[in-house]
Amino acid sequence: MKFVLASGNQHKAEEICATLPGEFELVRQSDLGVDSAEETGSTFIENALIKAKHAASLTALPAIADDSGICVAALNGAPGIYSARYAGIHATDGENIEKLLSAMNGIEERSAFFYCVLVCLDHAADPTPLIAEARWPGTITMASSGKGGFGYDPVFLPDGLDRTAAELEPAEKNDISHRGQALKLLAQSLRERYNP
Ligand code: IMP
Repeated sequence: MKFVLASGNQHKAEEICATLPGEFELVRQSDLGVDSAEETGSTFIENALIKAKHAASLTALPAIADDSGICVAALNGAPGIYSARYAGIHATDGENIEKLLSAMNGIEERSAFFYCVLVCLDHAADPTPLIAEARWPGTITMASSGKGGFGYDPVFLPDGLDRTAAELEPAEKNDISHRGQALKLLAQSLRERYNP
């Protein structure tokens, strides 16, 4: 069963391809000449549906999309849906981290969670999208640590661990992360929908 993966982010695509069982073949939208959709929603789920609809309508394939980010309690859930563009539209991971650490300067309550929602649309007008979501709780560290992963991983200390997400092996992160957990849920729904 073949799906178009509506993600322009190389790191996220790698994590999704590594985690979703092999029975589901994923083709990246960029390999089919599809550009990223504009994320105009005000919630993660709206943005995931926008991305999936865009990819399904341009490829005529069922589409899987994710939207994710980090939500910090002391910042009222920011950066949230703006995680990728927190320090500006073309911000690097380093610039986003720098902005987050300075926003957290002097704040003791540093709890946060990564959030991921994944959707699957059978076709662009599918009124019954499959939806899977998960959170990964932790705290924001005082400084970056670790070279693995991407995004905010170097400043995210998952609850119950003594290493940042950037210090975990890729398989270890994929097993417990927000995206890994949401993918397991989505895989179950995909099996029920497509292999009854
Ligand atoms: P999206 O492409 O709009 O979903 O942007 C997601 C952004 O959230 C990424 O660019 C990262 O900044 C952040 N993010 C999402 N998932 C992760 C993760 O697993 N590790 C670190 N940062 C993440």
